[in-house]
Amino acid sequence: MPDRPDRRRTTPRTDRVLADPRLRAAAGRLGDRLVKAAVAGALARCRAGEVDPARVADAAVAALPAAATSLRRVVNATGVIVHTNLGRAPLSPAAVTALEVAAGATDVELDLATGRRGPRGAGALAALRAAVPAAGDVHVVNNGAAALALVSLALAAGRTVLVARGEMVEIGDGFRIPELLESVGATLREVGTTNRVRLADYAAAMDDSVAFVLKVHPSNFVVEGFTASVPVDELATLPVPVVADIGSGLLAPHPRLPAEPDAASTLRAGAALVTASGDKLLGGPQCGLLLGRADLVRDLRRHPFARALRVDKLTLAALEATLTGPVPPVRAALTADPAALLGRAEALAARLRPVVPAAAVPSTAAVGGGGAPGVPLPSAALALPAALAAPLRAGPVPVVGHVERGRLLLDLVMVAPADDAVVEAAVRAAAATAPEVAAAGAAAAPVPATERS
Ligand SMILES: *Cc1c(COP(=O)(O)O)cnc(C)c1O
Repeated sequence: MPDRPDRRRTTPRTDRVLADPRLRAAAGRLGDRLVKAAVAGALARCRAGEVDPARVADAAVAALPAAATSLRRVVNATGVIVHTNLGRAPLSPAAVTALEVAAGATDVELDLATGRRGPRGAGALAALRAAVPAAGDVHVVNNGAAALALVSLALAAGRTVLVARGEMVEIGDGFRIPELLESVGATLREVGTTNRVRLADYAAAMDDSVAFVLKVHPSNFVVEGFTASVPVDELATLPVPVVADIGSGLLAPHPRLPAEPDAASTLRAGAALVTASGDKLLGGPQCGLLLGRADLVRDLRRHPFARALRVDKLTLAALEATLTGPVPPVRAALTADPAALLGRAEALAARLRPVVPAAAVPSTAAVGGGGAPGVPLPSAALALPAALAAPLRAGPVPVVGHVERGRLLLDLVMVAPADDAVVEAAVRAAAATAPEVAAAGAAAAPVPATERS
């Protein structure tokens, strides 16, 4: 190891590297801390002999993050349209532009005509009212859970809520709807059995303490076989309001998801209030929608706790653009043409086959945490060796797929066509880090395109 002390002597000083004009400019954009971290990393790699002393600044520039956030842009090639771990709905370009407008000083609570205080987020609320005329009034909070918490607190604290036993559900990551209701002081009274409940069960459980009947959409599982639940129009004949947690945020019926409840139909069926998430099938920012009877919505809006659940100007801007702007990616994916997706997968496979075994295959996408459990959506994927899964997640733009029967499938349903080139570059880079996979490229027979995943 005769060159080790040598290299230490020639390793440039930190301040010399930091003086590089590219790094000085980056410090203005990203802040000193991130730039210093990139330089420290490059210097360590120089001392370890991995970076030439003359290229330390280059290495630091290459290691700089794109923005001052540790969140990374990821390509969602999982075939799950609303992927909670990947941030649920990606926003439409119109919503992203709206976020930029709202990021600065904005008239979120100012009437520019009079110069006086105005109603907060009036544009977003008007857009939601226009999208669901069946709602007497609307309100927006931080997420679906907050919507349900506010309803329970305002209407049922110290009182009782009736819920079907089969609707006492856990949504994900340990979030259980019954626990949420109890945490704000409501008492739950379960009716029916796990698989069956009748209107008479609700009627028998009714007394003066009951504040409302809660109908929860089981958004992540289906019960099959000997089952029965009571539809909203029948629950609406009971002497208390019906609150329906529809979860997914569909505002109107969707032809591809006939079993998924929507806000307009649920209100027309007689629900007094509907709660839903904004970042599932609506395709917008994280928020919770409350729609329904004007008197109840007013009570919710005026409840002291509503302030603690208040959405920020960014959410209001993105929600309004989601409601009024062009179709957001989630909703476009629901009606994606599988033949077009397969064509894109074939083009990618053809370009990649010289470097790695690649094939285009029909696949089945899923709505995901957003709702419509068990509904298969025909899609198409690029099939690659499973060994590429980890290097693809480690690249500069991580591409996340899923491994199925020994192959890595990159499903294109949630990959924007403009990102096909990003996927191609990522696969080339990943193959270069896994030479044993690339070497198999020439020899391996491609997976037949007719095989169903
Ligand atoms: C997703 C979901 C929730 C929770 O909504 P968040 O926006 O994640 O807080 C509540 N109820 C149902 C039925 C859901 O599907």
